[in-house]
Parts: sequence; structure tokens; C-alpha cells
Amino acid sequence: MTIQLSCPWCTDEVTFTIDEADEELVCSNCSTRMDFAPDPGVTYELLYASVA
Ligand SMILES: [Zn+2]
Repeated sequence: MTIQLSCPWCTDEVTFTIDEADEELVCSNCSTRMDFAPDPGVTYELLYASVA
């Protein structure tokens, strides 16, 4: 599963792969790993709001 997010390192909107096992997002461009958003509501929206 992937989502589009602005990567602070790429300074561009890129595809992130969601690593649910590690609860991390992995930038497909620079391979930077980020934790999910600290706010569960925001994380939920990132993960699921755009899918519906
Ligand atoms: Zn990146």
C-alpha cells in the first residue's frame, strides 16, 4: 500500500510505502523512514481517507 506525501528530504510530493509491521512510512525516492503521524486521527486520514 502506498500514499502520496510531501517528503521533507525530497522536498517534493512522492510515493511512500506503508510498512504496517513497523508502523513506518518509507519514501520510495530517498528511502527515508518516518513514523506515522503522531496524531492517530491524522494517521488514519492519511492511510484511509483517500482510499474510499
Ligand atoms: Zn524522500
